[in-house]
Amino acid sequence: MGPAAVAELYSPPRVTAALPRPVCGQQLHRSELVAGSTFDLHADVDGVAWDFSKPGDRKRAIARIRAEEPFLVVGSPPCTMFSRLNVNLNSHKVGKVEWDERWRAAVVLLTFAAVVYKIQVLAGRHFLHEHPAGATSWTHPAIVQLGAREGVGAVVAHQCQFGLETTGADGGRAPAMKPTRFMSSSPAVLEALSRRCLGGHAHAPLLGGTRARDAAVYPPGLCEAIAQGAAEQLRRDKRASVLDIAAASASSLAPILDTRAFIAAAERGGREVNCDDAQDRTKDESEELATWAAKEVYDEITGATLPPKLVQQARAEEIKFMLDGASGSAPSSQTAGPRLGRRPSAASGWTSTRATRPSP
Ligand SMILES: [Zn+2]
Repeated sequence: MGPAAVAELYSPPRVTAALPRPVCGQQLHRSELVAGSTFDLHADVDGVAWDFSKPGDRKRAIARIRAEEPFLVVGSPPCTMFSRLNVNLNSHKVGKVEWDERWRAAVVLLTFAAVVYKIQVLAGRHFLHEHPAGATSWTHPAIVQLGAREGVGAVVAHQCQFGLETTGADGGRAPAMKPTRFMSSSPAVLEALSRRCLGGHAHAPLLGGTRARDAAVYPPGLCEAIAQGAAEQLRRDKRASVLDIAAASASSLAPILDTRAFIAAAERGGREVNCDDAQDRTKDESEELATWAAKEVYDEITGATLPPKLVQQARAEEIKFMLDGASGSAPSSQTAGPRLGRRPSAASGWTSTRATRPSP
């Protein structure tokens, strides 16, 4: 297994820029965090622009993520169409057909990110999704359902705490608050990002011109926090897997120990052996195993422990929507209510057997 890579979806190298990039032939250990692939809409490190409105590009990206198995995928889908301000300012300036087209494109990118996140979670790896705290995308079914998964959490961070600056009213640099919500399967990353402004400085708004471009850049402090959180998560996951292995070998020894006790008791004299107890224990174990097996089958988080056939089937269903017909089934502003409403999850093609609960 190679080193633990961080991949970035929809952005030039930001977090990955701060990480070592593996050189061809270099041996790196899994405990080392390195720069993985970036899937940029404009141009990735190899100068390739990804067009995720095309099923072919989505397929290629998924194949690459499956092959590279990044430890963490950081995703920041374009958010303009999920901004109430943008909708209020611009929806009347373009025709309905054009607006619907933009909306569909934005939903495809958001949903594709959610598919990638789900692949990560099913494989026992991690994702970090970022969008403005006030974005309407947080009520999209794909995001709500992901947030409802066990082990997935979200925090709101104020980017001034990570050094985000913009041009102030006086022309100088001033802190920008930019409340941002992060959703992740990694508690350590969320802990690292959980910083809110305590006041003590004046914020400059991020609107228009160069200020909007400032908002598209991660301040170095934010990249560092994500990298530190990912490194800590890597340590925790390694510890957990060591404990899992220890627990697994302990439980595989248990039947042997039971048998030895049984034989020892039998040798001490048949009457001391309580066969009813032994039978009860066997019965309990069978029931426990049956329950355990059922739990495993339906546990979407530990997808890797499912029978391979079921995994394949679930993955096929889940990915089919993304690879084949996503752009055709994205909502129009009509079906989406007042331009930004939610759409029925049944139509989203997003497959989940879990009940949805509101995001925090
Ligand atoms: Zn602040």
